[in-house]
Amino acid sequence: MPESRTCPICGGPNADFAGGRSDRHRELIWDGTCPRCGKVRATDEAIARVNGAGHSIPSQDRSYLLSAFFRHFGTGSADQLVTTSNVEALLRDLPAYTPMEKRDLLLQYAAATSIKVGAESDYRADRDYPIVFARDHESRLLR
Ligand SMILES: [Zn+2]
Repeated sequence: MPESRTCPICGGPNADFAGGRSDRHRELIWDGTCPRCGKVRATDEAIARVNGAGHSIPSQDRSYLLSAFFRHFGTGSADQLVTTSNVEALLRDLPAYTPMEKRDLLLQYAAATSIKVGAESDYRADRDYPIVFARDHESRLLR
């Protein structure tokens, strides 16, 4: 399999799926990291299920939720594998943050990535929008 630098979930560059995709258990498994999604471990079928493939309505693309899941919870267990068996439950059980709570998440992240009070944060909208469960970096938080 060829090495992939494009994330299969968010489509972002500079992803590190050094082994590309593996064909263990006859399923294509994406196992690597993405600057936007964090540590990713999911089957190709699970990703296809949420990415809106076959849907004509863009709002049915739920890949941003899978990206947010991995960014927030993907490092919890090295053995966690997202498959078609668990992806719907994982996305359904994601917290439904209000705009104010999303703003708090953003402030907490900004504080956590600043070296001291008053210093600039390491937050980058184009990379870090999954922190606030946004569809993309242009989404407005307060909607
Ligand atoms: Zn990604």
